[in-house]
Amino acid sequence: MKVVIVGGGLAGLVTAWRLGQTGCDVTVIDPAPGTGASSVAGGMLAPVSEAWFGEEDRLALDLASHSLWRQFANELEADSGLEIGFKTEGTIQFAFNQDDLRDLARTREFQLSLGLDAVELSGAEVRVLEPFLSPNVLGASLVKSDHSVDNRALVIALITACEARGVEFIREKAISIEFETISDDSNVRAVTTEMQLIPASQVVIAAGAWSSQIVGAESLDVRPIMGEVIRVAPRSGAAATITHTIRGTVRGFPVYLVPRAKGEIVIGATQLETGFDIQPTAGGIFQLLRDAREVFPYLSEMRIVEIMAGLRPGSPDNAPLLGPIANHGGLYAATGHYRNGVLLTPATGDVMLAYLTGGTVPEYARAFTPERFTSLSGARG
Ligand SMILES: Cc1cc2nc3c(=O)[nH]c(=O)nc-3n(C[C@H](O)[C@H](O)[C@H](O)COP(=O)(O)OP(=O)(O)OC[C@H]3O[C@@H](n4cnc5c(N)ncnc54)[C@H](O)[C@@H]3O)c2cc1C
Repeated sequence: MKVVIVGGGLAGLVTAWRLGQTGCDVTVIDPAPGTGASSVAGGMLAPVSEAWFGEEDRLALDLASHSLWRQFANELEADSGLEIGFKTEGTIQFAFNQDDLRDLARTREFQLSLGLDAVELSGAEVRVLEPFLSPNVLGASLVKSDHSVDNRALVIALITACEARGVEFIREKAISIEFETISDDSNVRAVTTEMQLIPASQVVIAAGAWSSQIVGAESLDVRPIMGEVIRVAPRSGAAATITHTIRGTVRGFPVYLVPRAKGEIVIGATQLETGFDIQPTAGGIFQLLRDAREVFPYLSEMRIVEIMAGLRPGSPDNAPLLGPIANHGGLYAATGHYRNGVLLTPATGDVMLAYLTGGTVPEYARAFTPERFTSLSGARG
């Protein structure tokens, strides 16, 4: 069995690694593995603070993946010999005024009603945990279980672990999938790149926001949703930083600050639907810096390391597309992870391994096949 994976972001890499561990013949095609959304992301592993009314099905998937994270991190670090910056201090959701406090109380009630953890903190209690937050923070929720990871370190560890397991990387752009049709059945035969034809018995489309370009939106409906981030770091000798992920809204705009090693912080993230353009905008960067400084005034003293934008792969219902693609034998999707692709990395690996090797697909993932959209459009005629 030869599996070809188109796209070497977190979704493609984790699938390749899991298959590589079983001794399977795996090739990843990507002109620049690990340079998509997976290296731009904030790295939050935050099912609880991302939980939202009406999205309980996706929450179950998020929680399932979250529960796999600690073991996954240990296994990947051992297999790659690299650290991935898995941090378990938790997340603080802040409030600046009475309206924010009411919103936070409502969210906390929802979180607790689902059996999730969230603890109310006064402004003074918040500053005991994070002394450099603004004195204007009136209160907060502490979500101990919402963790984070250094997603760039994660990408590098996965590439290293894949290579150690014999996964082949072809640094070219895939152009199309070739099929052979025998009577009514259409089965994958190969992937065509700009340079060559690569035979395959199974193909996984894991090209993030670009996935529809390869197989067409009628088979895989994924669109790009741009997000901007800024990385800042302390100037030499400075000690003020944060240890928890800090998130909330400032004048209605969402903002988060995710701490990394050596006092570095990732500030994110905007949401723009501007096609495949990934040039950061002045307005987006201004908004993020303005709002992040409001909650963490010391930001003014830090140096800017990088300003970046990436494309989240968005699906029609904001949930991932994991599993077989209708009407094409041997063709699978691992895409559409939208805002949660880092969180969903362990589950994506397990679920795709099950589909590709004929194993038992975990119950939590069965509702997320791409076929949920094709059968819907078929039913509508
Ligand atoms: C600003 C921002 C913040 C985010 N924050 C978080 C967060 O805190 N937590 C979280 O869980 N998620 C977060 N996400 C979402 C997460 O980053 C994505 O869901 C995830 O990285 C998607 O991974 P992927 O492998 O599907 O796509 P990508 O990482 O985009 O990888 C796709 C790969 O496909 C390759 N490719 C494209 N076209 C072709 C082709 N024709 N042939 C071959 N290869 C091709 C690209 O080169 C790329 O390497 C964030 C995203 C953004 C943009």
